Amino acid sequence: MCHSLLADASFWRQLQRLDEQIAAEIRSAGCPHCQGVLHGARYPRKVHGVSRALLGEGYASRLSFCCAREGCRRRTTPVSVRFLGRRSFPGAMVLLVCALTQDLSRRRRARLGARLGVSERTLERWRRWWRSTLPATPWWRAARARLVPPPDEARLPTSLLTRFGVPTTVEALLAALQFLTPCSLSSFPALSGHAV
Ligand SMILES: [Zn+2]
Repeated sequence: MCHSLLADASFWRQLQRLDEQIAAEIRSAGCPHCQGVLHGARYPRKVHGVSRALLGEGYASRLSFCCAREGCRRRTTPVSVRFLGRRSFPGAMVLLVCALTQDLSRRRRARLGARLGVSERTLERWRRWWRSTLPATPWWRAARARLVPPPDEARLPTSLLTRFGVPTTVEALLAALQFLTPCSLSSFPALSGHAV
C-alpha cells in the first residue's frame, strides 16, 4: 500500500464526490421523520493530518441537512466516506496508516506514524479502535458476516482491506471506506477524548 495516496489531491476529490452523491440521495428522499424538504446545513470540520490545499475546500465541512418543516426541523447527516465518526483525521488516513504500520514493532510504527504526521498516542488509539472497539459493535458483528471469509479481527484493518482486493490499491481502500460508512456517524462508538 502506497502512502503517496495521502498526497494525491485527485484521491481526496474522489472521496468528496462520493460523499456528495450519498448526500444528494439522502436529500432527494426528504426528511426521514416527516418527509419534509431538507435544507443544506453543513457543519464545519477541522481536519488534521492532510493539508487543506490537498483536500480542497469541501473538507472544511461535513455535509448535513435540516428539515424545513416547522415543528420538525430535525437534522439529518448522511454517512461519509471521508470521515470516521468525530475523528479529526480523514478516515482514509486512519485506515491507511494503521494498515501500513500493522506488522511493525512499536518503535518502527511510531517512527513511520510520525513521518506521516500521526503521533504515537493517536496511532495507538486508532489501533485499539480497530482491535477492540469496532469488533465489539453490533454493526460490525452483522456486517462482517457479509464478507466471505469474515476478516480476522486480530488483523484489522488489513484483513478488511484484503476482502476488497489487493490492499495496496485505491480500489480496495475506496471499497473498504464505503463498507465502513456506518462508522462515520457521530453516534457510532468512537474513542473518548478529542482529536482521535
Ligand atoms: Zn422533518
